[in-house]
Order: sequence, then C-alpha cells, then structure tokens
Amino acid sequence: MLYIVGVGRSGSTLLERMLGAVPGSVNAGELNAIFSRVATQDQRCGCGEPFSVCPFWTEVGEHAFGGWSAVTERMAHLQPRVVRQRHVPRMLTGSGAAYQRELAEYLDVHERLYRSVSAVSGAEVVVDASKSTAQLFALRRIEGLDLRVINLVRDSRGVASSWSKTGIRKPQSTDGAMMGTYSPHRIAVLWTALQLESSLLGAASPYATRVRYEDLVSAPRRTLEQALRDVGMPPGEGALDHVGERSVTLGPSHGVAGSRTRFTAGRVDLAVDDAWRSSLPTGARRVVTAVTLPQLLRYGYVRPGSRTAPTRTA
Ligand SMILES: [Zn+2]
Repeated sequence: MLYIVGVGRSGSTLLERMLGAVPGSVNAGELNAIFSRVATQDQRCGCGEPFSVCPFWTEVGEHAFGGWSAVTERMAHLQPRVVRQRHVPRMLTGSGAAYQRELAEYLDVHERLYRSVSAVSGAEVVVDASKSTAQLFALRRIEGLDLRVINLVRDSRGVASSWSKTGIRKPQSTDGAMMGTYSPHRIAVLWTALQLESSLLGAASPYATRVRYEDLVSAPRRTLEQALRDVGMPPGEGALDHVGERSVTLGPSHGVAGSRTRFTAGRVDLAVDDAWRSSLPTGARRVVTAVTLPQLLRYGYVRPGSRTAPTRTA
C-alpha cells in the first residue's frame, strides 16, 4: 500500500490519481473519510455516482464486510476515539487495554478494506491519499501490511493562501456547501506540526520519501519516477506512459473524498499554482514564512540569507 501524507490543498488528489494510473496500482481516495463522511453522507465517488450505488465500492463492501451497513456506524463511532492526534503516544506505548481493543478492531476493519480494494480492483498496490499522520501511525500497527509512504509538501505560503480563499464550493456537495477556511497562522502551525511528524515517520521507515508539489507539476515524470524508486517500487517499462513532460492523462477513478481533481478525466495540463505570490497579503506572508522557516529552508523553498527569509530574534 502506498500512503500519501500531507496538508490539505497540496495537490494530494493529483498525486494520488497519477500514482493510481500506474499499472498494477489503484487509487482509492482519502480512505480515512470512507466511514465517517463518504458512506454516512453518501458522498459522490470519483466516478460521479453516489457512494451507495457506485458498482466498485458496492463490490468492495460486499467482499470485505458482506455490505457497508455491517461496519459503517461502528467505524464512524470508533474513528474519533482511536485515531485522534493526541492518541499517537498511546499508539506508540501500547498502554490502555480498552483503548488497544478498540484500536485492534479499527485496524482489523481497515486491513479487510485494503485487501478487498486490492482484490476487487485486481491491483496489487492500493494508493491511499488520507494525508493524516495519526491514521498512518495507526496503520503501521497492521502486521503484514506492506506500507510505503510519500510525504507531499507544498510551499506553506501557497497552502495558506489556498485555505484563506472564501466562496469555494465543496466538490462532493450536492447542496451548495462551501469549503471551510483557516487563518494563515493556523495553517502555518498545522503545516509545521505535520511536517515534523512525517519526518519522524519517514526516519522510521526504509520506504518513505518526500515529494514537493512544485516538482510534481513542473517535472512530473522525473519526480514520480524518483519517488517510486525511493519507496522501493521502481516503475517498469511503460509504467509512466500516462505522464508527459508537462501533462498527465488520467483514466476513470473511484477515489473518495479529496479535491475536484478526482472527477477529472483525460489529459490534464500541469502548471505550478503560485498565485499566492501576489494574492497572499504581506502581513500573512511574513507570519507564515516566520513560523515555517526551518522547514522552508530544509526543503529549498527559501534560500539562506535571501530577502524572503526574515531574521529571527527568538
Ligand atoms: Zn465509483
């Protein structure tokens, strides 16, 4: 299984679709939302159908559980109890018998889910774009699950700018609901925390790598090829034929949750979205740069001594 970890609005749905189009792979969307939102609210699948009538997910549910109704309510109840960020220490230390029982039940259902996605699709590699580090910490406990990880990172100023936009309709909505917004400062703090956690996870795994969104869209073929090599899944001859120099050709998808990119099919031209350089207000840009500076430097978004790097006094 190939798991994408990152902050929302970093291009994870695009990366997931590109990886899912590699022969022998299937993209499943953000699977950590499948019980809590997708099934309970009957959200639209990437194929355009409501989840409850999508033929792919109907077959997966039958294969895994004898139907989704057998597990959905229970999982929607368990998920916030066992995979919150504050539970990460308990997941690591193994303390608390009642908690461990609930976690084991949660993981058993997920193992059956992944195996069924693989069986129904016929693909050996399931691409899960859940993004959450807490979910990833939990999944690592499943023995026998071959878990490879890509940390997708985008310049924190671009992420902050995207999250401050108002009036964007939710891609899965049927009632005109709008996307939520977050302040640039809040995004900067979340971004920093997630990158620190994913560094810890990456250091603990031989099959983890980091991909910059900006590299993915400006040099998609080279970037994907390197990422797949890094996680021990070097692409075979022709495996990246769907990826051009500045474009990608996407087939049908049953990805759940995620951005509107999951409804796109055919040839998609790729270009770096760096509108934040003009649209993010100077004050917000300064705040986000200051909070995320150590990692901006590490990932090459800011060069040491450049004018964009404010001097830090603390
Ligand atoms: Zn579908």
